[in-house]
Amino acid sequence: MRTLKDFIKHLRENKLREVAIYNLNVIKGMDIPLIKLLQQKGVLKSLDDEATIQMTVDSMSKSLLAIIEGTALQNAKISLQQWKEDKIPGIGKNEIQPSDLILVYAAQKKTYQHFLPDFASDTAEAMAILGELEDFQTEVQNDAIQMLFTIQKETELKLKETETKFRLMVQNVKDYSIIMIDTEGNIQSWNEGAQYMNGYSVEEVIGKNISIFYTDEDKENGLPAHNLNIAKKTGHFEAEGKRLKKDGSTYWADVTLTAIYDEGEKLVGFSKLTRDITKQKFAAEELRSLNNFLDSVLENIPNMVFVKDAQDLRFVRFNKAGENLLGYPKKDMLGKNDYDFFPREQADFFTSKDQAVLNQNDIINIPEEPIETKNGLRWLHTKKIPIVSPAGRAMYLLGISEDITDIRNAKLQLEQKTRELERSNSELEQFAYVASHDLQEPLRTVSSYVQLLASRYKDKLDKDANEFIDFAVDGSKRMRQLINSLLEYSRVNRVKPFEWMELKEVMSDIEKDMKDQIKESGAEIIYNGLPKIHGDVVLIGQLFQNLIGNAIKFRGTKKPEIKITSKKKNGQYLFSVKDNGIGISKQYSEKIFIIFQRLNSREKYPGTGIGLSICKKIVERHGGKIWVESEAGKGSSFNFTINAE
Ligand code: ADP
Repeated sequence: MRTLKDFIKHLRENKLREVAIYNLNVIKGMDIPLIKLLQQKGVLKSLDDEATIQMTVDSMSKSLLAIIEGTALQNAKISLQQWKEDKIPGIGKNEIQPSDLILVYAAQKKTYQHFLPDFASDTAEAMAILGELEDFQTEVQNDAIQMLFTIQKETELKLKETETKFRLMVQNVKDYSIIMIDTEGNIQSWNEGAQYMNGYSVEEVIGKNISIFYTDEDKENGLPAHNLNIAKKTGHFEAEGKRLKKDGSTYWADVTLTAIYDEGEKLVGFSKLTRDITKQKFAAEELRSLNNFLDSVLENIPNMVFVKDAQDLRFVRFNKAGENLLGYPKKDMLGKNDYDFFPREQADFFTSKDQAVLNQNDIINIPEEPIETKNGLRWLHTKKIPIVSPAGRAMYLLGISEDITDIRNAKLQLEQKTRELERSNSELEQFAYVASHDLQEPLRTVSSYVQLLASRYKDKLDKDANEFIDFAVDGSKRMRQLINSLLEYSRVNRVKPFEWMELKEVMSDIEKDMKDQIKESGAEIIYNGLPKIHGDVVLIGQLFQNLIGNAIKFRGTKKPEIKITSKKKNGQYLFSVKDNGIGISKQYSEKIFIIFQRLNSREKYPGTGIGLSICKKIVERHGGKIWVESEAGKGSSFNFTINAE
């Protein structure tokens, strides 16, 4: 007896096309939703056209072969699996119903049954094959339905899972308030973030209008209706604004309204997403006020301050002092570079300095640079500083310039004056030298003849003549003294090389030279620990000798006591020659250093009034200063400094 397999083999080999067409007709009569869906989606066209017939022939050939080889169940599994993995286009996972499968299998069964009498005329054989077919179909169909269920359940579970996750996520987000509202702004649901942000419980807000979150001022200005209207029209609205909490406090909110439509594309409400941006707003505000502060600092600095972009050296900042200095308004400067304002040569100079700053990434100091301004040439002292990003890339160049034109002019004038003074001083010295030197010759003649006159004619003429001759002799002596002092004075600045000298040796030479004076006056000279100094030995000797000489000369009634001390201070030696003589009243403490200035009568204290002016010159030649501390009747202290090296 033949079996189902023989029957199927017979169909596949002899009747395939007929079976396919018959099957299509059966399906047509059955009104299967899945087939309609396939037709709707365009996967299947008409059930009568050749392409569909051919497709059915192919698939029937496969499934008949599967029955023959006993792999039908496996095949069904494979195709369901493919469909599960979305490899079969057109039909979604939930679009196949178990009933679809039942109907498809029923159509198949009906088709096979139709051809059975043709194959098996023997009733017993036909019944056996029919039974086999029935069992087979039921088994395959049940398994397929089972598989379909499993797949659909899996998908459903997954969907549910993501839905739950999403809901939880939305619900628990604290940083965002998510509110679902209807088209009029009435609250339908909200998340925990909304509760947290606004301070109301869910029960308190459901059904309320979102206007409860708006300040009175906003409400007067037509909010939130205005925003909802825009969202209604455009589907979307974004804004920043102040929002009200339940406790009456406010916060800054960043709000996005998004329209929600149903399947029929009808507006059903909005999602309202709100973020509390108070902190950011505050930080931004703080930054802005810091910036304003820095701006006003920059604006009010009396020096020109500018910032250039490191890339193309265009001005990006420019302050008021800069505007005043250059004579160009800020708006004309910004975005331009040096070549837009200055003569080419000057712009080249500025640019080369800018590039040097940026290349060496270090500050550059330009003590003097000329700049052509709208108000004429000015001189600047400029510092250029590179401004570097945290990554070390030069971003900007900062320049700070001080207008030194006036200081520079004053300095130049001073230098000019000093030069003139030096010239006239040296001319004067030259003159004093020449005069005193040349005067000596006629003076010698006068004094030798006056002395001759005195020795030959004294007491030979009358009494008056004797007196006149004495005057003439005195006068010529005095004149010699003056001329010698003047010569000495003019020689101080003759440049001689400095050398190291032991002052105590200089002192003992002086004591030898002055031994008569010292003896006669009974003077005591005290000095200890005098240093070695660098200078002109002859002049230094002269300096000490003059001061000691004065201290002895201007002694009072007491025995002169002269104390010489020294100490080192700021790279200089400070010397002091102190006596116990007649002293000098304060008002004369400057005058005595001027040439020919004397305070006392020549009869009592002889002298030319040149000694201290020579001392002053010597001290200055050694880089120091001289001054006196004294009071009339209380002795004097002549102090002076000398460079230590
Ligand atoms: P001279 O000694 O030739 O008068 P100086 O230039 O040395 O000239 O001194 C100027 C004047 O300063 C002196 O005439 C005197 O009045 C005053 N003087 C200088 N040294 C002393 C001193 N040690 N004590 C008091 N007066 C002094």
